[in-house]
Formats: sequence, structure tokens, C-alpha cells
Amino acid sequence: MSKILLERIEKLETRIVNEKTFLNEMKKIGIEKLPYAYSAVDRFINKETMDVHYNKHYKGYVDKLNKAISKRRGGDKELEEIIKDISKYNKKIRDNAGGAFNHALFWKMLSPEQQKCSGDIYDKITIDFGSYRDFKSKFEEVAKKRFGSGWVWLILDNNNKLKVISTPNQDNPLMDVVKGGGYPLLGLDLWEHAYYLKYLNKRDDYIKNFWTVVNWKFVNKLLNSKLPKN
Ligand code: MN
Repeated sequence: MSKILLERIEKLETRIVNEKTFLNEMKKIGIEKLPYAYSAVDRFINKETMDVHYNKHYKGYVDKLNKAISKRRGGDKELEEIIKDISKYNKKIRDNAGGAFNHALFWKMLSPEQQKCSGDIYDKITIDFGSYRDFKSKFEEVAKKRFGSGWVWLILDNNNKLKVISTPNQDNPLMDVVKGGGYPLLGLDLWEHAYYLKYLNKRDDYIKNFWTVVNWKFVNKLLNSKLPKN
């Protein structure tokens, strides 16, 4: 056999090995552990809701996402990278990547111990909204206006200003398809599955009650990781 032909075969074999490795090692998006017991935030969400929400809804999004991305190349990306580039993916991946990412954030945004809004986030809220009270009414107002399923968010926009926005379905403010988005700092799930067992049709009560469980320490952490350092 000619030397050139041998080299070609060798190259081809290397490529096949590489592709196999790539496919085998394709990273799966993992399930985030719930950082507290199902009943830990029952002043806001009862144990039954938390159980179903975490084990059925959230795990369902992660499973469906892994199935959907394993069918395409480049599935070994971090979830946040997929979210930022979501326009390159289909609707199924958009819905389930959003579901996986939003809930992973949401669990961390709730705290078993009641916390007061303080620190850098409190100062920035006061500057950008006028007062903490004004921010709260804005957040509640935007949440109440969401018709059907979606989320309400406090975000840091691209000009480093705090803003309240709402996204439909499982869209996240980081998605490149969301106009006027930014980095999510605090989010509230407005899907019926998040509140119905405890609040029935009284979604406004659920929204108002959210303030008793916000994990402001986590929100401060997110803010500080995103604010430009002087
Ligand atoms: Mn949910």
C-alpha cells in the first residue's frame, strides 16, 4: 500500500476514535440537589407541592433535556452556555433547558430561615427603584400581569441596572431570544404547578408570600459575581 493511502487510513481511524470518545463522554446535565427538606419552606410552599415540583416537574425537565441534547452534536455544553445560545436550538430544548435552569436557580433562591433584604442588593434596589417598597410593588405588579405560565424576575440588565421583567413558559432572562433580558438575580415560578395545591386559584397570595422565603444571601452572591469590580 502506498504511504499516502496508509496515512489517510490512519487519519480516518483517529477521527473515528475521537468521535466515539466525544459521544461517549457527552456530559449529561445533572440534577441539582434540593438544599433543604421538602417541608423547610412550608410557610410559602407546602411539603406536597415541593415534593411533586422537585421530583416530577424539575426532574422531568432535566430528563427530557438530556434526551433531546444527546441526539445532537455539541451536547456536552454547560447548561448556562446552552441557555445563552438558545436560538440555535429547537423548541423542545428551549423549554426543557429553561425548565432545568430556572428550577436549579429557584431552589437556591428560597431560604428555610427568614432573611431580611440587606447588603449590596438592598443598596442597589434603593438606588435603581427608589425604595425597597417600590421594588416589591413593581415585582408583584409584573408577576400579577403574567397571563398563563411563566416567571417574574429581578435581573441585572446589560447596563448594570436592576430591572423587573417577566418571561413566558420556561424562558430565562439570559436567553438570547429574550428582549431586554439580563442576568437573573431573583425569580418566582408563576406556573400553576408551583402553587395550586396550597393556594388553589389565589395566585396573588402566593406572590405576596414569596417575600417570607427569599434567600437574599444567594441574591447578593449572584449580584456580586456580576457587578463590575472597581
Ligand atoms: Mn416549576
